[in-house]
This record gives sequence, structure tokens and C-alpha cells, in this order.
Amino acid sequence: MYRSHHCGQLRTSNINEEVTLSGWVQKSRDKGFVIWVDLRDRYGITQLIFDADRTSEAMMTMAKSLGREFVIQVTGTVIERSSKNPNLETGEIEILVSKLTVLNEAVVPPFTIEDQTDGGEELRMKYRYLDIRRNPVKNNLIFRHKVTQEVRSYLSSQEFIEVETPYLIKSTPEGARDFVVPSRMNEGQFYALPQSPQTFKQLLMVGGMDKYFQIVKCFRDEDLRADRQPEFTQIDCEMTFVEQEDILNVFEGLTRHLIKSIHGKEITSFPRMTYDEAMETYGNDKPDIRFGMQFGELNAVTQHKDFGVFNNAELVVGIAVPGGNRFTRKEIDGIINWLKRPQIGALGMVYSRCNDDGTFKSSVDKFYDQDDLRKWSEITGAQSGDLVCVLSGPTDKVRAQLSALRMELAERLGLRNPMEFAPLWVTDFPLLEWDEESERYHAMHHPFTAPKPDQIKLLDTDPGAVKANAYDLVLNGNEIGGGSIRIHDKATQALMFDHLGFTPEEAKEQFGFLMNAFEYGAPPHGGLAFGLDRLVAILGGQETIRDFIAFPKNNSGRDVMIDAPSAIDETQLKELHLKVELK
Ligand code: ASP
Repeated sequence: MYRSHHCGQLRTSNINEEVTLSGWVQKSRDKGFVIWVDLRDRYGITQLIFDADRTSEAMMTMAKSLGREFVIQVTGTVIERSSKNPNLETGEIEILVSKLTVLNEAVVPPFTIEDQTDGGEELRMKYRYLDIRRNPVKNNLIFRHKVTQEVRSYLSSQEFIEVETPYLIKSTPEGARDFVVPSRMNEGQFYALPQSPQTFKQLLMVGGMDKYFQIVKCFRDEDLRADRQPEFTQIDCEMTFVEQEDILNVFEGLTRHLIKSIHGKEITSFPRMTYDEAMETYGNDKPDIRFGMQFGELNAVTQHKDFGVFNNAELVVGIAVPGGNRFTRKEIDGIINWLKRPQIGALGMVYSRCNDDGTFKSSVDKFYDQDDLRKWSEITGAQSGDLVCVLSGPTDKVRAQLSALRMELAERLGLRNPMEFAPLWVTDFPLLEWDEESERYHAMHHPFTAPKPDQIKLLDTDPGAVKANAYDLVLNGNEIGGGSIRIHDKATQALMFDHLGFTPEEAKEQFGFLMNAFEYGAPPHGGLAFGLDRLVAILGGQETIRDFIAFPKNNSGRDVMIDAPSAIDETQLKELHLKVELK
């Protein structure tokens, strides 16, 4: 028996018991005649004591030789500590060791295994197994487990069945490139790893499973943006005989359940907002609604004067920054420079200070009088003491810029409390999205999403205006889930493929299996998927998903610990019928 207890377990009630513990040496303090060793495992730390009066000389020598991260087993008696440590759950006791076995030695770790470590990111990734011994990483993994367990229990209680779908499949278009796997047995042919189980879950609905979920790995070969992983985990769900409303209700329930069970917090408001509303009021389809600063469109009250910049702009739009009138000129210049960085790309910013005496002082006083500025503040909801920030230009660009400014200022003003949770649904997404590069429409969600039935006829005349029964779940400014009601008849699906530029042959080649299935009594269905990594990170009050993944890849998609991807040898290449020509 390696242990009778774990290292976070013993209390004063165990005093005088003989116990056996196993774990890692966190650190030892050698005072010559007394040696204390902190013994660590997943559950906590227990202090061991060796002292010259009560411990044999041989064992004292052995205890002195213990290095950091040695794996040891000890047997001894639980005794009361003379100086207690209130910060440690086991801080009132220690173990007077009578038997010590070194189970394995350890070389000195490349960074300290403490909550605050001296190890840089790259080093910690290379030795991730050591990083996982640290509390912050360990606790994140335990937290993730707790979230997934709550997800499974909630969905199971709603009669969802977890079904596994295959990883070696044929391309599923979710808008990224596929990772492909060469087939040894089928020369010149490749599997694709799923970008999501989308088509399979739809086939499960045709198969009558009614309510499906799966906590599942998905793979997307994208140019890595910050905090994206080439493989990531979804909570993937699908339901039969449902309308959008049914789906929103079920997953609103799941979201409420998670926030309640994890944080004990009741969500009092769960708003719904159309895509158009979100773009108008927040400039963004994933608005952070923990704070106000809603957009106020100012075209009507700015384009009657001689200010060419505004007169020529498609959109003039502002936000009221709470308390922003206290910003110095220098701070405002700082904000303007921030906006002008290439990542944001604004040409400038107009502002109006809302003074305490009800007057205004703007950067364009030459053009606008007090009455004009009063209207700006009314429309943006500014109070005295606020600063109205105004941007202008092409609608899409300006919205994106002002949205970025809104988030940045909210961050600086401390309005984004990570322990406050503000979920909402954004609904009625456009069905299609114009792609500049390929000069054609792409599915905004994916090609299986159903257009709103009354808008199908618009597909021929104004495809960009067609809205879909598609929705996103947004939490604290992050899209954490998205889904749609699906097309379930062959004709509409064929029409959709046609609009996406597939020839009937191409559609048949790629999605014939689905179109066939639609001929055998496919029920109306719909669903969604949550990004588990991001959901867990946000629920954990943190920003980066990497910290919640046991073995993440770095920003270049590499696993630096196992050194993947890597070359394969000639024989393997040959077996796979591949020839690699290196540039
Ligand atoms: N398959 C979709 C995705 O990965 C989710 C869905 O439509 O259910 O985003």
C-alpha cells in the first residue's frame, strides 16, 4: 500500500494515528537537528518532521539528501505542530517520520514548482508535466473537469444522449482548412479530421436519436490567431422536432445551471438581441453587456454643418465614456494614438467633454455649438463628467473601431469584472457573407443552416439580406456557442449549395450522403455547439484558453514538449504512398 491518506487530508482529529503518505518533495528546511519536508500531491501539502532526538541517524542522513521533486513514501505518526500554519489545510499537524523510502529521485527542475514560478511560457510548455504540478495549472484542470461534469449531468437530465462520432472522416466545411490523414490502404486517398461533427449529428437526428450531445475534439487548420488552438473541444448538441425557441431555452438552462453550480450565482437577465441590433448598439456581434457605453448614431445631428469629415461619412457614431471628462489632453491624445495604430486603423477621433456645469467643450467647437453638442450627449446617453468619443467613416469599419475602443476603455476603467457573468443570445444572423477574396458568398455559419422560410425567395435577388435561423451565445464579450436550425429537405439543401457556388456534381461528391439521408424521412432539427475551452476559461475568470488545456499547442501550432509536428521517415512515407519534396 503506497498510502493510507493523501497529502491534503490529515487534521488534528488524526493525531497519534500511524499513517503512510506518498508524494513529491516540495521543499525541505534543514536546521541541522531538525529537518522539515513539505510533501505534496494533488490534494495538498503535509509537513514531515525528522528530528535528531526522535529520528535515527541513518534516516536523518537520508532526509538531508532529499532533493526537490524526489518521490518518496513515508510512514509515521501524526503529531500536533508547535507552530501552526493557518494557510494550509493540514497546517495544524505534521508527521513524525519513522520510515522513509525514496521511490524515485529527481533532477533539479528547470523552474520552480510554485504558484508564482520563474519559468517562462516556452519552458513551462516544454516541461508541461512539471507545470501541471503547479497549483494554478492543476486547479484549472480540476475546474475544467468540474465544468464538463456539470455539462454531462445537466444534459443527461434533459434526456440528451452522448454519442461518439468518428474522427477519420471526409471534409466538413466550417470555414477552415482540414487537417488530412493519408490512408495507407487506399492509395492516394485521405481522411479529413472533423472541423466539427456537424454532418454526423444531423445524421443522428435522421437516425432518430432525438437529443444528442458530445464533448468532442474538433480540428481546424487555420492560421493561428492569438489564443486559438488547432485542436479544441466542443460541447456539441443537436435536437429533433425543435424550433429556434426550444433550443435557446434548453441552452439558456444549461448556461444558468453552469453559472449557478460553479459560482452559486443566479443569472437574472438573459437578453436576446438580433444581429442587426447588436451591430447597431455595440458595433459587434458578440457584445460585452456588463457595462453600458452603447453606440449612439449621430449622422442626423452632425451633418448639417460645414464639417466635411462628418458630412462625407457613411456613419458618424459615438459612445459616452463614464467619467471620461477627467481625462487630460495628454490621455485623450493617447487614446487617439491607440485608435490610429494599424490594428485599429482609425484616422482620428472627435470628442466632446461634458462639463459639470452642463456646458460642453469639444474638439470641433469651430463647427458645432452647445445645442449640437447637447444632442450628441443625449443620443449617446452621456452625463455630466463623461466624455463623448465620436468616430466616422464606412459603417463596418467604424463600428469595428468604436467597438474596439469601447472594450479598451471599459478595460482601463475596470468595468470588465471577470467574476460578473452577462450572457445573451444574438439571433437572426445573416445566412451568407460576402467574401472579398473569392468574390462570392460563403455561408456565414455553415451550409446546413436554414434560411428564415419567408426569406428564401430573397436568395435570388438580394442574397446578402437573407437572415438565417442562426444564433450565438455570447458571454462577457466572447462568442462561446453558436448554432442554427438546419435545412432538412433535399431541395433547399441543393438550392443552398447552388448559392454557395457548388455545382450539383461537387455537392453530390462531397455531401451526397447527407442529401441521400434527407430522402429517408429527415425530421426538422437544429442544434448548436459551445467552445468548451473558452467557456471554461471565462467561467474561471480568465482570458487564455491555453491555461485550461492540459497539453496545448503554442502560437505556431507546435507541441514543444513532444516536438510535433515532425518529419516522418522514408519507409512510412512510402507506405502512405507519399512523396515529400522539401523546398
Ligand atoms: N457545427 C457548428 C460549429 O462548429 C455548430 C452547430 O451549428 O451546431 O460551429
